Amino acid sequence: MSNFTFTILKTSKKSLARRGIVHTPHGNIETPAFIPVGTQATVKGLTPEELESLDVQIIFANTYHLFLRPGEKIVKDLGGLHKFMNWQHPIITDSGGFQVFSLGAGMEQGVGKIASIFPEEKLMQIPNSKFQIPNSTKSNRIKITEEGVEFKSHIDGKKILLTPEKSIQIQKDLGADLILAFDECTSPLADYEYTKKAMERTHRWAIRSLETFNAQIANRKSQIAKRKKITSNIEYEIPCLPAGRRNTIYNIQAIYGIVQGGMFRDLREESTQFIGKLPFFGMAIGGSLGKSKKDMHQILDWTLPLLPEKRPRHLLGIGGIEDIIESIKQGIDTFDCAMPTRIARTGAFLTKKGRLNIFNSRYQSDKNPIEKECRCYTCQNYSRAYLRHLFWAKEMLGPRLATIHNLYFMSRLMKTIRENI
Ligand SMILES: [Zn+2]
Repeated sequence: MSNFTFTILKTSKKSLARRGIVHTPHGNIETPAFIPVGTQATVKGLTPEELESLDVQIIFANTYHLFLRPGEKIVKDLGGLHKFMNWQHPIITDSGGFQVFSLGAGMEQGVGKIASIFPEEKLMQIPNSKFQIPNSTKSNRIKITEEGVEFKSHIDGKKILLTPEKSIQIQKDLGADLILAFDECTSPLADYEYTKKAMERTHRWAIRSLETFNAQIANRKSQIAKRKKITSNIEYEIPCLPAGRRNTIYNIQAIYGIVQGGMFRDLREESTQFIGKLPFFGMAIGGSLGKSKKDMHQILDWTLPLLPEKRPRHLLGIGGIEDIIESIKQGIDTFDCAMPTRIARTGAFLTKKGRLNIFNSRYQSDKNPIEKECRCYTCQNYSRAYLRHLFWAKEMLGPRLATIHNLYFMSRLMKTIRENI
């Protein structure tokens, strides 16, 4: 028996949306769910208790950053990510690949982390010659081979080789509940030939990721069996479980495969079928999602019907309100995105009427909360005028209160969506 399961509770009659629960050793995730990003093992500015009060169910930490600093061995020695950051609910880590590519090829092509997803406007500003950068291996910052990706640390310039085996080992040491296979995130500027070549390599890396993942489980099994002289059904111990349940055992991690293929229909279909046949617990959709939001939903239309129905589906790096609503209708279960927390730190509050920019002079003496009907701590206690003052005065409480409101807004939105499926 696995203690990682996905249960579909209900499917919509009007769309392909579904409501479900991902069960993990650190608790359940009700889906559809939004996953806030905690890049450096912290959702910037908030304590775990505050995240709990905002109904945050799971957070997304970045392998690339934690590997470079403080290093996965330190996190492991301190008891793993949950203990390290004092968060006892589920955690998901990425493979590190996306950051390597977005800090390498992406930056070189003038396409940033977010713009790399919808670079249409950027494209128009790039001289014609720049359209001809299909091949990420030409980058000076990163070198891609069959073995993996060599890159220079953005912290100290040290050369590092990240491979599928290394990524899985790092993620195992970090100890998140859900981890991702190592993939190449191709640039939206990549042409068909390159995207195909990269996708095929990603498929080989998916197999190597799974083999490493399974070998680690087998290895751990035999270690525990030797120690306890028990040979049956032992995979992992979970010390946080009540004593009586400690011998009934369990995996402590589950792995997601990643579908690539850029904005090309046949490649997306091929990748979906290939990754869908491998025994991954969940399926993530990654890579370039085209040049516009329309392209993105088109890609999801090609991909989702071919995915195994009973496995959870994650859409990587997307978190705009309309994108979330539309993608849920297409059958996505979970999302991660830095947007709600990142814009909070710049004074942008999410509201039902769109974004509210607190720097605006119209809020100078506004006694109202950000949203009257919002039950978050910020709206219950502070006026727009006070919040505006905090931001203009560059007080750290401003970004904190904005983050609280925006994450509460996302939790409330997802709860409403779940109730309506
Ligand atoms: Zn609020």
